[in-house]
Amino acid sequence: MSEVTYPIHGACQCGGVTYTLLAPPAMVVACHCKECQKLSTSAFSITAMVDAKDVVFKGVMADWSRPADSGNISAAKFCPTCGNRIYHFNPEQPDAIKLKPSNLSDTRVIQPTAHAWVSEKQDWFSIPDGVKQFARQP
Ligand SMILES: [Zn+2]
Ligand SMILES: [Zn+2]
Repeated sequence: MSEVTYPIHGACQCGGVTYTLLAPPAMVVACHCKECQKLSTSAFSITAMVDAKDVVFKGVMADWSRPADSGNISAAKFCPTCGNRIYHFNPEQPDAIKLKPSNLSDTRVIQPTAHAWVSEKQDWFSIPDGVKQFARQP
């Protein structure tokens, strides 16, 4: 398998929001919490931790936020046309972008390096050997 080369482009399902990822994420986390199951319409969501300077967004995004289990605010940006989630962030740490990277053109990037909230994981999903796991938030 060849190396992933940056920059990589991402786009929502309708193409109204696009972005460019300039550097590899610090970490890629699969989250198995119930909120992420709803969000992803799947068994878990995938988040790539990236610095705000390493990602350039284009297009108009809508906002939504909710209180997180940690007491922080979990704010979300999404495409107002197709609803595809683009990224999450804590308004108190706006430089820490929690990118929803499944819409990148090179999806090798989304392979999780850690699994969070395995306490709420679906029983049928087995975490691969050798990948870090956390019962709740890492
Ligand atoms: Zn869209
Ligand atoms: Zn979650």
